Amino acid sequence: MGAMEWSGGQAERPGRGRRVLVVGGGIAGLGAAQRLRAHRAFSQLRVLEATARAGGRIRSERGFGGVLELGAHWIHGPSRGNPVFELAAEHRLLREKDLSEENQRMETGGHVGLPSVTYASSGVSVSRELVAETASLFHSLIDQAREFVRGAAAPAPSVGEYVRGALRALAAGWTDREDARRLRLALMHNFLNVECCVSGTHSMDLVALAPFGEYTVLPGLDCTFPGGYQGLTNHIMASLPEDMIIFNKPVKTIHWNGSFQEAASPGETFPVLVECEDGVCFPVHHVIVTVPLGFLKEHVDTFFEPPLPTEKADAIRKLGFGTNNKIFLEFEEPFWEPGCQHIQVVWEDMSPLEDVASQLQDVWFKKLIGFWVLPSSESVHVLCGFIAGLESEFMETLTDEEVLLSLTQVLRRVTGNARLPAPRSVLRSRWHSAPYTRGSYSYVAVGSTGEDIDRLARPLPEDGAEAQLQILFAGEATHRTFYSTTHGALLSGWREADRLIALQDPQAQQPGPQL
Ligand SMILES: Cc1cc2nc3c(=O)[nH]c(=O)nc-3n(C[C@H](O)[C@H](O)[C@H](O)COP(=O)(O)OP(=O)(O)OC[C@H]3O[C@@H](n4cnc5c(N)ncnc54)[C@H](O)[C@@H]3O)c2cc1C
Repeated sequence: MGAMEWSGGQAERPGRGRRVLVVGGGIAGLGAAQRLRAHRAFSQLRVLEATARAGGRIRSERGFGGVLELGAHWIHGPSRGNPVFELAAEHRLLREKDLSEENQRMETGGHVGLPSVTYASSGVSVSRELVAETASLFHSLIDQAREFVRGAAAPAPSVGEYVRGALRALAAGWTDREDARRLRLALMHNFLNVECCVSGTHSMDLVALAPFGEYTVLPGLDCTFPGGYQGLTNHIMASLPEDMIIFNKPVKTIHWNGSFQEAASPGETFPVLVECEDGVCFPVHHVIVTVPLGFLKEHVDTFFEPPLPTEKADAIRKLGFGTNNKIFLEFEEPFWEPGCQHIQVVWEDMSPLEDVASQLQDVWFKKLIGFWVLPSSESVHVLCGFIAGLESEFMETLTDEEVLLSLTQVLRRVTGNARLPAPRSVLRSRWHSAPYTRGSYSYVAVGSTGEDIDRLARPLPEDGAEAQLQILFAGEATHRTFYSTTHGALLSGWREADRLIALQDPQAQQPGPQL
């Protein structure tokens, strides 16, 4: 092992305290660091971030004349009680209308709003009435799927199988003509794919039915950050000393339950040694691990030494972590109507009641649910497409030219306009290929339950050994009711900071919401 390192600097205040490392500079890690820094016992604090930037899956880039959100897009449930909404409001990062009481009171049930226009693969647009009726039916099935959390025996293992079973029964009673019936099913197929984007999964057949309703939807009409989501993490960063975060410092192994020493602190022993990929090691009292579940899944056998207790390693293996990506297309001129916000794309040859075996390269683009229209100006016309699952991971392996060509063909076909000008350029996220993320966000997979989230979140060691709270776990995947969100991630970082503060100072008043 290489040199041990714990240099001084601004981040360190005089006096001996508990030495804490936070692994990961996403919103969970930054939130934990900010909370700990406010407490005098934690003057020796560092954040190690594998990449060259903070924010993790909150990633806003300037491009195509505006802001492109490569990661988190909306505040889900922007209302008082949602800490991301409250911080964003405090820092004046939101639009006036999104702060209004009316917006905050809006109950969407967590469902995506109706598209402005729906194009079908035969080149026709689908009537708004049919789309609204089908969406309402689909959303009622999803609402029913959430009810099994109340204890009624779940009739199927997965949300997908439950919805398809219900659909099959309903479709048996439909009396429409064959083509109308096909269109209804094609719409349902699209709505299932939307749900795959929401859950960050390849198929709703992978999402466990019984615990599905544990995910909690907060009131409020989802809103975006006009200047970029990253404004939020930048604000947290600005409150921390500059040298507190060490960038390009990927952690390789966390050695725990040990007795580590360093030359600079004679006589002192530390139970944890954090070893980085470059060989540098940090002896510490506590480490808060906030790396994504996708990274943990890939490195579960080597990231901890001694290895994790079986229950926790199993929870990591069983919980779901899939891919949802964005594809931004920039156009010379808009082909959509003024005021259009959301374009849905439906494939009439797809049905949730039929499995079609095909090669990914031939059909990957059919998983794309459609496009959101980004705020435009006279010269800026940008669409943002969403695509989840294995098709999304396959898309990551293609070149920009291949993606642009396929989506130009899709748009020409569904608009029925063979001369529709190709987009000027394309830009996309590639969350599955990102080595320190390996996907987009977590879900409760078939074979796991909300209890696995709690198991993942439980600090180590679990047996009340003398050196308590050696490894703490935060990050979106550790929040039982708000997993997959920025507010779940932030709350999990605060939760673990508060846990450490309570260990040092049992009388401490915990600030902020405890959702
Ligand atoms: C495409 C997409 C769309 C999304 N849309 C929304 C949305 O609309 N609304 C919403 O609320 N949420 C959304 N999310 C989810 C949200 O972005 C995440 O839940 C949240 O940002 C996760 O924060 P985190 O701190 O838990 O993890 P991260 O932000 O992933 O932070 C973890 C950090 O750990 C670092 N790391 C990993 N391995 C190591 C290592 N070995 N050593 C050191 N550092 C390491 C990573 O580089 C990363 O910076 C979306 C995510 C994606 C990908």
